[in-house]
Amino acid sequence: MRTTTGPSAQQQSGEQPPATQQSVEQCPECGADVPVDERFVRWCAACDWNVDPHPPEPPKGRIEEGRRALARRHGERLLTEMTEAGEEPRPRRDASALLAYGLALAVHGLTAALLVAGVWLTAAVPGPGVKVVGVLLLLIAWSLRPRWRKLPEGADLLHRSDAPELYALVDQVAATVGTRSVDTIAVDADVNASVTTYGIRGRRLLTLGLPLWESLTPQERIALLGHELGHYSHGDVRHGRVLASAYRSLSLWAYYTAPTANPTLVEMAVNLFYLVPRTLIHGLILLLDQLTLRATQRAEYLADAAAARTASTEAAVGLLDRLLVGSAADTVLRREVNQAATRTTGPRSGADRAGEERPERLWETVAAHVASIPESEYARRRRAGAIRGHAVDATHPPTHLRRAALLAGPASPAAVTADAERTRRVDGELAPLRAAVTRRVIRDGVR
Ligand SMILES: [Zn+2]
Ligand SMILES: [Zn+2]
Repeated sequence: MRTTTGPSAQQQSGEQPPATQQSVEQCPECGADVPVDERFVRWCAACDWNVDPHPPEPPKGRIEEGRRALARRHGERLLTEMTEAGEEPRPRRDASALLAYGLALAVHGLTAALLVAGVWLTAAVPGPGVKVVGVLLLLIAWSLRPRWRKLPEGADLLHRSDAPELYALVDQVAATVGTRSVDTIAVDADVNASVTTYGIRGRRLLTLGLPLWESLTPQERIALLGHELGHYSHGDVRHGRVLASAYRSLSLWAYYTAPTANPTLVEMAVNLFYLVPRTLIHGLILLLDQLTLRATQRAEYLADAAAARTASTEAAVGLLDRLLVGSAADTVLRREVNQAATRTTGPRSGADRAGEERPERLWETVAAHVASIPESEYARRRRAGAIRGHAVDATHPPTHLRRAALLAGPASPAAVTADAERTRRVDGELAPLRAAVTRRVIRDGVR
């Protein structure tokens, strides 16, 4: 499986990465050979010495601790379930996911009930006092209403007419994973990608992070599209939207019933009065959290399987590896952006101006750095992830488990491919946004 080295197209066209030092040291623990690359952590593959020099902080608070314990318990079992009997894993809402969905709908039902009661009290029941209560209920219902997400303001968007080749590729991937394609594509500077919906008609938005996109091979990019569109075809986005708006309503309820600090006697009585609803609201938030944890992890495995079906198992595994070293891409991006920002504020030389005029240089540098990461660094991050387990993030299964799930079944061939000409055309369509995002990150910095 190709993971790291070997000259890539990006490396050839871009800036050469710093030369890798080829020296070897002895492990202080067991004496085994440790390869030395000054840019990366020195560690021993034989005894795990220094494999994770900066382990994450232990979880803060009981809720987070509980979530991770639960994630750990579910994690291994879910992997077994997903890889069982060599069968293609299917999207399936288990009892807890359905219960969570039901609770979310009940929260929205309560808002609807408030609305109906408000209308009835203001319109049908006589008496000014009743009307005041009715208006109050209407105001509360209005504040709790589910809202349509809007297109992010100031986002760098790529419309269908601007990028026919990229949209054709996304359409093809969507058809392969069995879902409708996206309406809009946005590009940003995150080492990530995501899908969501916006507007009343639930239009689809795919966001591609340039540092990630640029560091992937053409086939891994297709795997990324397969993963993201897989989230649509499995209903994750729709469920996510209902749940997210229920969470929002619940946190507003929590805000309305929060106790007053330094209360007067009357406020103390109100605080006491709200004790029961307040406890119920917090309990409901916790319960929703616990119920959805398993489903969100399962959704990631399924999206990975969609990526493999679309772009081949090899490309899907390659994508996971790139995500594993995502923080390295982020570090290089920040360094380059800082340097460029210093250059633009300082006195300018001809060479600097040339750099500004060639914004793709930034992305070539990031891609070249990622392409030059040695296999031992990938191995270290995988190993550290396995030791950390669910210590970092409860919503995503650890990468080593996702990798194991992909490699457990028979290898999938690619259903969608992009030849050199297609890749070149897609690159060309992205060029104006590459320039826009570069100008923006140099002006505003990296988030
Ligand atoms: Zn050792
Ligand atoms: Zn995902």
